[in-house]
Amino acid sequence: MTRHPIPFLDLAGVTESLRDELDLAWKSVVAHGGFIGGPEVGEFEEQFADYCGTRHCVGVANGTDALELILAGLGVGPGDEVVVPANTFVATAEAVCATGARPRFVDVLPDTLEVDPDAVAAAIGPRTVAVMAVHLFGQMADVGRLAPLAARHGLALVEDAAQAHGARFGGRRAGSVGVAAAFSFYPGKNLGALGDAGAVVTDDPDLSARIRQLANHGRGGGGHHLHQVPGRNSRLDTLQAAVLSAKLLHLDRHNRHRSALMDRYLHHLPLDHRPLAQHRLAESVHHLAVVQVPDREATTRALDAAGIGWGIHYPVPCHLQPALAGFADGPLPVAEHAARHILSLPMSPTMTADQVDTVCAVLGQVTR
Ligand SMILES: *Cc1c(COP(=O)(O)O)cnc(C)c1O
Repeated sequence: MTRHPIPFLDLAGVTESLRDELDLAWKSVVAHGGFIGGPEVGEFEEQFADYCGTRHCVGVANGTDALELILAGLGVGPGDEVVVPANTFVATAEAVCATGARPRFVDVLPDTLEVDPDAVAAAIGPRTVAVMAVHLFGQMADVGRLAPLAARHGLALVEDAAQAHGARFGGRRAGSVGVAAAFSFYPGKNLGALGDAGAVVTDDPDLSARIRQLANHGRGGGGHHLHQVPGRNSRLDTLQAAVLSAKLLHLDRHNRHRSALMDRYLHHLPLDHRPLAQHRLAESVHHLAVVQVPDREATTRALDAAGIGWGIHYPVPCHLQPALAGFADGPLPVAEHAARHILSLPMSPTMTADQVDTVCAVLGQVTR
């Protein structure tokens, strides 16, 4: 087949489409030179808190740090357990390990692949202190059940919203439901920087202040050379903040475009390709277009031959990762089955409906 290649994610195209605004953003930072803690950082924090519907936002270095800093700010540490879905990016579990706590892996729901609230309930024990509500692939986890469950047991509900900028559940924005939420602005996320970046959002002013202090060498109250607690360096730098403010203006439009592409996929996918279900209260922002396919080997071969990009998120569930296997306490059949059948199809704010049709046509030929 001689077609134009279709990238899995057209990052270059997205960047090019916003070129003038991005150039303006970084040039203004280069002009004033306040590369760390410049005014653009506070401006972006205010805009993003506003966008999420929370009182506070703390810009940090990346999404993994955001997760770890939330847990550290909550006082999670050795001897504690945190419930984590098995099907997530490894960072969700890494953040728990970094505090010295133990990740307690649970299974996901077969139709949405979001964390299973019943499995969470079953995993709660005397050492459990928090639950990671991972909003995977752009759809929020069932916070309608997770929030009351966490409240009933006195647990912190922490949102991993790294794939869900702008998503809603029952009308509430991702980031505004738990005690705090972690966002990643890794370039490929729905809101992506031109490098690594992340943020924590929360309504809790004390937690916000503790996280800001931890992320800036324990400074706070006493000036630049007084360190109140052992902290670290995990700041959002000014250049990225300026870029993020420029891109935030386009996030809702990009998310609507993703949604339209997903609708088209749903209408044109071959019948034996199962897209993920949407909870009736969830409004996904379609970070990834995930389908479950009967024969993934054959499908990926056909996509490769047609020059169509694809991904697998994720081929190895967390509890089977060599780094984390010590925390596994039994098989998690839904996550393990999904890991063998899921396939992420191209999805970009610059992708066209024709490109979706091309992808679906290639998929249709595989199954025939
Ligand atoms: C991307 C991602 C992270 C980590 O974010 P980084 O900015 O890459 O550190 C955490 N959790 C999930 C679900 C992610 O997709």
